[in-house]
Amino acid sequence: MIDVQNLSKKFGDNLVLNDITTTIQKGEVVAIIGPSGSGKSTFLRCLNLLETPSSGSIEINGKNLTASKKDIHKIRQQIGMVFQHFHLFPHMTVKENLMYAPMKAKGVKKYDAEEKARQLLDRVGLAQKAAAYPNSLSGGQKQRVAIARALAMEPELMLFDEPTSALDPEMVKEVLEVMKDLAKSGMTMVVVTHEMGFAREVADRVLFLDHGILVEEGEPESFFKNPASARARDFLDKVL
Ligand code: ADP
Ligand code: MG
Repeated sequence: MIDVQNLSKKFGDNLVLNDITTTIQKGEVVAIIGPSGSGKSTFLRCLNLLETPSSGSIEINGKNLTASKKDIHKIRQQIGMVFQHFHLFPHMTVKENLMYAPMKAKGVKKYDAEEKARQLLDRVGLAQKAAAYPNSLSGGQKQRVAIARALAMEPELMLFDEPTSALDPEMVKEVLEVMKDLAKSGMTMVVVTHEMGFAREVADRVLFLDHGILVEEGEPESFFKNPASARARDFLDKVL
């Protein structure tokens, strides 16, 4: 589904992604881990063209992301993104947050958008918050709304950038549970996370980045038990 070939990204002289090549299959859950500043967010942002690669190519479903603007717009609609800091629309109710993009960008009728919003809020356990405003919600609830909002566009791929890092510890689990359900439903997911338990339990594959280099990738079991590289061992010693 995603084919990344020799992807590099520079900010000025700073080589942030260094010749990354990997593929991600449909339905796969991939966890990206690595030290702060290693390029994890930049990698995710390249996948939905929030950043433009300096060199290399990214194909999603056979479409090159450096292709025409029209294609890019379409491809982006198929990719949901969830950030560390929710980015909900503060002046809209929870339900309106979910209805906005489908109506605006896809021309979904109000009635259908509303119906879909209700289903999704139910799915993330927040049916009773449909009429609430974001600032009345807890961090965990906000993040579940953000996930539901991304799902309202019916994406084929979901990207998560440290979705639980800004949460109080007691709210991490409720968000990870929603993500786990999503993984079980067959969604293709790329998740930057510091939650090693989640990576180990839910991911099909772990990518370890360090200084912009894809140092190592593998199945969680073998990666966590027996990382091949000294850099990954060193990182795991610090975080586990
Ligand atoms: P991570 O998510 O692994 O912490 P990032 O991808 O955010 O790492 O950042 C990798 C490097 O790229 C860091 O050195 C960071 O300062 C730099 N960087 C990220 N975004 C920008 C930007 N928009 N302009 C300049 N430098 C950036
Ligand atoms: Mg980051």
